[in-house]
Amino acid sequence: MPPRTRFAPSPTGLLHIGNAYSALCCMRWAEQHHAACLLRIEDIDHTRCRAEFSTAILDDLHWLGMDWPETPVRQSERLPAYQQVLEQLRGMDVIYPCFCTRRDIQDEIRRMSIAPHRDDPVGDYPGTCRRLSDMERKRNMEQLPYAWRLDVEKAMRRLDLPLCWHDEAGTAHPVSLDHDMVIARRDIGISYHLAVVVDDAGQGITHIIRGDDLRHSLAIHRLLQLLLGLPEPVYIHHRLVHDANGQRLAKRSAGTTLASLRAMGIRPEQLRRFLLESPDLIWPLSDADPAAAGALLGNGDQLTHTSV
Ligand code: GLU
Repeated sequence: MPPRTRFAPSPTGLLHIGNAYSALCCMRWAEQHHAACLLRIEDIDHTRCRAEFSTAILDDLHWLGMDWPETPVRQSERLPAYQQVLEQLRGMDVIYPCFCTRRDIQDEIRRMSIAPHRDDPVGDYPGTCRRLSDMERKRNMEQLPYAWRLDVEKAMRRLDLPLCWHDEAGTAHPVSLDHDMVIARRDIGISYHLAVVVDDAGQGITHIIRGDDLRHSLAIHRLLQLLLGLPEPVYIHHRLVHDANGQRLAKRSAGTTLASLRAMGIRPEQLRRFLLESPDLIWPLSDADPAAAGALLGNGDQLTHTSV
């Protein structure tokens, strides 16, 4: 089987230059390795995702030169598959319902950090709902909204091996989790972490190429893959695009979206060449200024292949 990778944007806004770099890294890797590069629209968060952004993303990616060999997967159409996996984890007794609000968590952390003989690591979640009795859980579930959290200690006990991920050279990198993470949010009934591991396995992804900003997700992804008996993909992290102030590019800045570049008459080969050959990956423009964009991007000829 040839290797398979994917680009997985979330339609919470228009694609910006940082997203374009990520898509290009996936495409280039696929080209160099005769791999399939698939597309997945990560639209589980109905509070932030919009259909018009999905349409614009497909259009921008076509413009950029991306072509996908299979129908894109839309996470919003896969909710039953995620619920099934959540049930599986429930059956394994490694998740528990969490009724805490943000405020409850802050109060509890404050209270625990002044307690004299604290023996429970606090992390980002102090474990409040892990300690509820079955009766309390049952009663709360009838009355309150809840998320599902992974009981990291129980989950790790089931595995009985250290957690690590592997890079392209086959080197193992140890990772760990310091608190019980939410794997199904109370508002949408699922989380990015659970959906992404289920879909990467479902789409047969062998290599995951994504930004350095997602490294912190590796521990929870590997733990879920091991618990669920899913294959382990190879992880490759690429650099991020920054603005002139050294900040990571975000969807909010006008002048950084692909839509604004297209409206300024920029051609895809100009952007591809700039991103794939830029030594420092800095996008210094925040306004839609066609002359400045044209000067920065050059004419786009002679794209050579450099490494990620
Ligand atoms: N949907 C995520 C994002 O847009 C990327 C997820 C991934 O590559 O694992 O940031």
